[in-house]
Amino acid sequence: MAEVRSPQTLLRLIEESGAAFAVVEDAVETLRLQVGDLAPGDPDAVAILRHHLLAIGSPSDVAKYFSLELLTRLAPERADATFLEVVEQLARSPIQPDRTYPVERAMIRQLGEREVTEALPALAVLAAREVYPLSRSAARAVAKIVGSTDQDVITDRLKRDDLPEASRPQELSAGVNRALWPSRKSSSARSSQERRRKITQENAESPPDSSQTCLRPESKAVRQRRLRAVLLGAGRDPSRCGNCGQAGRTEIGHLLPPNHGGSDRPGNLFSLCGPCRRRLPRGRREGFEEHAVA
Ligand SMILES: [Zn+2]
Repeated sequence: MAEVRSPQTLLRLIEESGAAFAVVEDAVETLRLQVGDLAPGDPDAVAILRHHLLAIGSPSDVAKYFSLELLTRLAPERADATFLEVVEQLARSPIQPDRTYPVERAMIRQLGEREVTEALPALAVLAAREVYPLSRSAARAVAKIVGSTDQDVITDRLKRDDLPEASRPQELSAGVNRALWPSRKSSSARSSQERRRKITQENAESPPDSSQTCLRPESKAVRQRRLRAVLLGAGRDPSRCGNCGQAGRTEIGHLLPPNHGGSDRPGNLFSLCGPCRRRLPRGRREGFEEHAVA
């Protein structure tokens, strides 16, 4: 019989593994066995569920519905905050155009239903990216929170002082409008579906640089988690060193640093363990040192 470990122990194992996705999944599986004993708001259980949900692009997603439900039940406020982080990750990162992101869309819907105003700028950026079906869900959540699908009403809401990040409200609401009615110009359902697929492929790689100004600034830890998810989504293991192959704590860096035009696409990312990072020649360390500045 499997030993039932406490959420605290499970979280420590996750941290020691460098948040390897297999370890996160095992931890969630163990939480499932003790779901009746978990106290509302248990901080360790909440942290584990958050690790799970933020690993966007993981190979298996079905178990995430359980994490979504349990997190909502244990700590509704933390669930809202986590779903917002998920939307921010999606708004900033390359996405896989052939994926439909059902769990992420469920989180987006929940932000809309719970009318989480704070999520408006990030939802609007994701809608304006026009990556379907994610952008459609994001646009609907915006309309739900604002209480209207009218472009002017959405613009006015984004202009209010409580949403300082929404620095280009007109542009954002125009994007929301496009994502709400993506098939307006098409003559048939089939051609509109084709069109959406083509647009998604064109926009999948990364969002326009200007989107960044409408999102909350990203801390080093948050960026690291986001880049790990990008690698995971591309079928690579971010908790394995790309140089020596050791599993454990790693840091993700850019081959071509962002301030030299390097993107967050998986092909421009690599993970290194501490010893390999220290062995890099000074010039090559740049991608990592940049993270440290943030
Ligand atoms: Zn290494």
